[in-house]
Amino acid sequence: SASSPSASTATLNAPPKVAVMTSGGDSAGMNAAVRSVVKMAIFRGCQAYVIREGWEGLVRGNEEEQGEQSAAGVEQVKHGSNAAAAAAVAAAAEASSSTGFVPTYGEGELLKEGVSEAEELGLKGRYIVRVGWDDVRGWLDQGGTLIGTARCAAFRQQDGRLRAAHNLIKHGIDALAVCGGDGSLTGADRLRAEWPELVEKLQASQLISEAQAKRYAHLKIVGLVGSIDNDLAGTDLTIGAPTALSRICEAVDSISSTAASHSRAFVIEVMGRHCGWLALMAGLATGADYCFIPEQPPKGKWEDELCEVLQKHRQVGKRKTIVIVAEGAIDRELNDIKADDIKVVLSDRLGLDTRVTTLGHTQRGGRPVAADRILATLQGVEAVNALLEAKPSTPSYVITIRENKITRAPLMEAVAQTQLVAKRISEKDFDGALALRDPEFDECLRSFQFASKVAEEGDKLPKDKRLTMAIINVGAPAGGMNAATRTFVRYCHARGHRALAIHNGFTGLLEDNVTPLDWLRVDAWATRGGSELGTNRVLPSVDAGGVASKLQQHGIQALLVVGGFEAFLSVKELEERREQYPSFRIPIAAIPATLSNNVPLCEFSLGSDTSLNALVDACDAIKQSASASRNRVFVVETQGGKSGYLAVMGALAAGAVLVYTPEVGINLKMLGRDVDFLKKRFALDVAGKSEGRLVIRSERASEVYTTDFLTRMLKEEGGGQFDARSASLGHTLQGGTPSPLDRTRGTRLAVRCCEFLEEHAWKASAASSPSSSPYDREAQAHTAAIIAIIGSGVVFTSSRDMAKHADMKNRVGKGAWWQKCKDLVELMGGRRGLGGED
Ligand code: ATP
Repeated sequence: SASSPSASTATLNAPPKVAVMTSGGDSAGMNAAVRSVVKMAIFRGCQAYVIREGWEGLVRGNEEEQGEQSAAGVEQVKHGSNAAAAAAVAAAAEASSSTGFVPTYGEGELLKEGVSEAEELGLKGRYIVRVGWDDVRGWLDQGGTLIGTARCAAFRQQDGRLRAAHNLIKHGIDALAVCGGDGSLTGADRLRAEWPELVEKLQASQLISEAQAKRYAHLKIVGLVGSIDNDLAGTDLTIGAPTALSRICEAVDSISSTAASHSRAFVIEVMGRHCGWLALMAGLATGADYCFIPEQPPKGKWEDELCEVLQKHRQVGKRKTIVIVAEGAIDRELNDIKADDIKVVLSDRLGLDTRVTTLGHTQRGGRPVAADRILATLQGVEAVNALLEAKPSTPSYVITIRENKITRAPLMEAVAQTQLVAKRISEKDFDGALALRDPEFDECLRSFQFASKVAEEGDKLPKDKRLTMAIINVGAPAGGMNAATRTFVRYCHARGHRALAIHNGFTGLLEDNVTPLDWLRVDAWATRGGSELGTNRVLPSVDAGGVASKLQQHGIQALLVVGGFEAFLSVKELEERREQYPSFRIPIAAIPATLSNNVPLCEFSLGSDTSLNALVDACDAIKQSASASRNRVFVVETQGGKSGYLAVMGALAAGAVLVYTPEVGINLKMLGRDVDFLKKRFALDVAGKSEGRLVIRSERASEVYTTDFLTRMLKEEGGGQFDARSASLGHTLQGGTPSPLDRTRGTRLAVRCCEFLEEHAWKASAASSPSSSPYDREAQAHTAAIIAIIGSGVVFTSSRDMAKHADMKNRVGKGAWWQKCKDLVELMGGRRGLGGED
């Protein structure tokens, strides 16, 4: 019988089966998520399955196994019992789940071509498919979802979910990872909530055995948020949103140049029915003039407000007008605001030559950007861990990210809160809707208002509160620096402060290369790469007395420093000399900006996302060449000084199998082990179907084992198995146009820094003591600080505290978070699983 003791023992001893599916609208990075779940599941000793075509596939199951019987069986649940049919189905399930774990290296191929060829590859009528390690090879850089997605009406009904539950149990699937938007996750939540009832019904109609009902009494399910809208509550980013934002910004950047050429207005419609994230972020990143988002309709009549803002922009001399409108934009009475309505207003009331562009499905993305690949990979790993740790008493989780922290949130609450946003909007409670969004959203909205506002005298601070604030860049240029400068200038303008630009770093200051910057001058800077102010590595100690007298001469009351490790050192040096030079006793803030991401404690620096994208673009191209020649290993050299950040995160995003960093170094034993791994790996490739492989080496990983040495060694050792070539990416890694994430982060952090500077400058002037009293350095240390993303928060850390976490000799932070990702590169690359443990 189906519940015979031997069958159930076999089931109990079988390795867990973990399945992954994608559902709802596709988004870039879904493939990376599937790849990560599959690899992590196999790594942790599970069998990996994919469910094709979302919930639809799960409801349908596999025709060949269930055939007529199963369909009849499911019917029985509704109309009574058919013990014979049910027993046969259950026995088949027992048999299939008792197949022991088989190593899956080199076994794949079935799904490699993606779902479009799936039918030809023998998957016709089969939606639940066992996959091996190599099935998901090369998936990182593919857009959309290769396992297919669908909208499934049947799953909205209990019958459909009953079939889905039956299929899961029949295939012995213990745990399910669902990657999709809030609809798909609502479905996941309902399935879990109803699970005991479904199991009971299946058992009552004898479609499953008692043993099966017992073993599968609890459904382990986890959500991965794959959605371009970034609309799920509780997470800063959803898989696919960064790529969609990139595509939008590329389009808006191109439109901007034609708009400026013809002095035109463009209204650009972007996706987002209930969520204005894409519209707002695109507005922030491209320096748009106005944004319409569902969460915050204009306070008064939108036509009047819009015209007032745009008119001011034109009055100060802007030649172009860019308005971004979310598809779900509404006014306070919940009437739609459509791109064409806006066009009419701009043409009729402002006389602007106005065009409408609807970006449509191009926004879904195509090739995922680095951030999506990394996010999906890290979240896929966390999803498998969450599934394997799940207990009947734990809630189902959705995997989230806050600033830089991957965490789990109860699925039900996240979904409920997301739906509440739409409800609040429909109730016209817009502040309530905004409050439900993540704090970052609100901050970005505020930043956009500062960055786009032309202020009247009456909007500004009272005269006695106004300051002279200066900005300076130090170190190498990095993406997002100019966006930060632009926001600094716009913030100063909005508040009535005087904004001074110090050109060419501290040498520039010593040469009096200091100029005021006005609103219009910085207009196009949001999208520019490099450093418009000019930058170099010279520190204030080059002539501290000179720097002090120049700060005093220009009346600078607050200073914003933007740069890499040098920015931290500059703040530190100024703070250390405050006792000697009173003009250094001003509030000083720094924004980390460096592709090396080596500023202590700061988990992110401006520019590192741009550089990761440059690296990923180059590696994708190189990989194509490596794959075309079938059996080639490419050794790619990256920049980064003594910091392996770019190498490690780049390796994770590009799918490199090995990565060498300065932190870990290179030794002979390691090289022997890595060569062994590559030999084993190439040997496991299916004959004639071997592909290239990527190795990333940080430029200063070793003085002796250079990129050239590694390449020649691999060539020699590869013998007839594989060949080796090298490529050095050098300064291309600084990236051209900064990525939208760097631009928006630059803007957001600049606003926070300006507020910090203001607050401390006012406090200092209120407390100004007679010059005879000694300066209390201890008490003031906190007013010289670096803004840092640490875990899930953004905090100011004094240069003194930061110094405690710095390795001054190597110019890096101690114990950076990303170092553990080196292991993950090797896990995803397969070295860990192939006996290459250290
Ligand atoms: P996107 O972000 O693109 O909108 P989504 O996951 O929200 O993605 P939906 O079309 O809303 O996309 O949902 C996808 C599928 O999830 C639906 O076709 C349906 O099968 C299932 N689903 C959605 N809502 C529910 C629900 N309330 N109950 C059961 N299943 C649901």
